[in-house]
Amino acid sequence: MLETSDLKELGLPIRLSRPIRINSARTVAEVIVRPTITSKELNEDFAEITGVASEGFPLSTRVFEFDLQESDHVIVRAAENSLPLIVCRDGEVIVNFDIPATQAFHFADSKRPIYTYLPGFNIHKIPTMIRRPLSNFVQSVYSRRKGSVAHDYSKLPLTSFEFVIFLLNKVLARHLEYKDRVFQWPSGKRAVFVSLHDVDTGGFLGRRERDPLFRIEEKHQIHSTWFIPTGLLTGKKAVEFLLQSGNEVGWHGDKHDHRLPFKPFAEQRVEALKKSFLAEPENFPTGMRTPKLLKSNHLFNLLERSCPALRYDTSFSEGIVPYYLWLNGRQSKILEIPITVPTDIGVYNKLHGIPRSRRYEAILEAQIARTRKLMEVGAVISIVTHPEKDLSERPELLDIYDQYLLYIKSCPDIWFATAGELFRYWTGDSWYSAG
Ligand SMILES: [Zn+2]
Repeated sequence: MLETSDLKELGLPIRLSRPIRINSARTVAEVIVRPTITSKELNEDFAEITGVASEGFPLSTRVFEFDLQESDHVIVRAAENSLPLIVCRDGEVIVNFDIPATQAFHFADSKRPIYTYLPGFNIHKIPTMIRRPLSNFVQSVYSRRKGSVAHDYSKLPLTSFEFVIFLLNKVLARHLEYKDRVFQWPSGKRAVFVSLHDVDTGGFLGRRERDPLFRIEEKHQIHSTWFIPTGLLTGKKAVEFLLQSGNEVGWHGDKHDHRLPFKPFAEQRVEALKKSFLAEPENFPTGMRTPKLLKSNHLFNLLERSCPALRYDTSFSEGIVPYYLWLNGRQSKILEIPITVPTDIGVYNKLHGIPRSRRYEAILEAQIARTRKLMEVGAVISIVTHPEKDLSERPELLDIYDQYLLYIKSCPDIWFATAGELFRYWTGDSWYSAG
């Protein structure tokens, strides 16, 4: 049984350059397969687009029974058992595996940091002067990257599903010699830019409109989302300057406590969120970022069950377009908007071989290398900065961000959206869906 499809049934803003035929025969294998592209030329083309080799990409899916005919041409097969995955027959492209099944994924819970077991210990009570160099040092020891950092960031961190979509489009586009972008954005824009901020301490809410990071974005007319711990939010008044200037406010834990994902702290913090104005309908859709990106299935599960106002998360760096989080083997209602551009301080910590004077420039190079790649494939360009004196508000890093925004503003056909606007568009929950 072959059915024609353009993947519209997935309800996502995806457009293939032409329809495919989907096999729906008996399942012969429910497996993890490494897809092998049989044509060397196509294989190289694909690796160039995505920065990843197809065989290095395990897919968890179902493969169907398939009677190969004499004239069939197998374009992609499984490395393990040679089962045909994508076949060309009389100019049509037949897909012989379950595409939606590749959306499923599992993420491992973060380990609770040892220091959070020390009674009365609070990472923010350690003076910044000591805390920051220490954590930078620890991170640089653990990062074993060598070679060009900018080169590393030209690889795309695709999810399995995105990999499949790009692979299909590449196979289809080759026949037509037609280079269409597969992800669709409003008004025919080629990619979307989203700016996000982690507010870790109270300084920013004291500086308000005078804050240098805030002012750089005002200058470039960027509206963004500021993730703030509920413990710093005395009420809506504290963030009125953000809301009134077209910005959004999201959740960054309660006290920026690194125990957030773990029982019983998750329960207590989620209660604080539910009592804050972030959970009120006027803040819809409320998004979040976990402190230090520590996360657990338990935390998201709890949020989904008990705090319907919380609609999206931005704590993952896998993927280049939004997707629903999978929790304990099921798809949740929480949309993930992944971070796709490396964070200033994250790159800085990887730059040990480079002289100090060159490091800031190298951060910008890495960020632009990734941004170019994302633009090429028409994805989400999302970046995180920290309005903290010892992080993105170091004078050199402010200058890098200013230059980065200057660059992105100079690129044609970019949709500048807030995370909330992107959420509404992707979930079809708005006027954007008209096009
Ligand atoms: Zn933070």
